[in-house]
Amino acid sequence: MSLPPTARNIALFWSKVVKSPNACWYFVAAISSPDGYGRYNYQRRNRQRTVLAHRFSVELVHGPLDEHVVCEHKCNEPLCVRVGPGHLTPSTHSENVRYAIALGRMSGHTLLDGQGRSRYQRSLDIRDALAHGYDEEALLQAKTDYGRDQGILF
Ligand SMILES: [Zn+2]
Repeated sequence: MSLPPTARNIALFWSKVVKSPNACWYFVAAISSPDGYGRYNYQRRNRQRTVLAHRFSVELVHGPLDEHVVCEHKCNEPLCVRVGPGHLTPSTHSENVRYAIALGRMSGHTLLDGQGRSRYQRSLDIRDALAHGYDEEALLQAKTDYGRDQGILF
């Protein structure tokens, strides 16, 4: 981070995160298209930075990262900002690409989830589901029941 965040910047960041008790921690503020990642905007001394939310989170734990280091979502959840095994870990880009290929994410449908929904829309649905705090049922529906409201399934 070329502009180190203040304690207030960090507190504001966590105020935008909804933690699932045993799984991912979801960033529920700005979301970028088309990748579906969270974007965190912070200000310090009249300067402003917009960064990837998950990268911000990793840097809080690991310190400033070199540009070539990417933050890998082992949980395959673009909004997740939980740092640690099974969720977010810093890695080199080549490792990340290898991992993505292993998951089949680069087979031409990189920006779609398994239900033909864009990653961006999926993230918006999850953010909506968590708008009033952690709600396991709403979250599960946002992740898996896509199509029902659109009348596709019936
Ligand atoms: Zn996660």
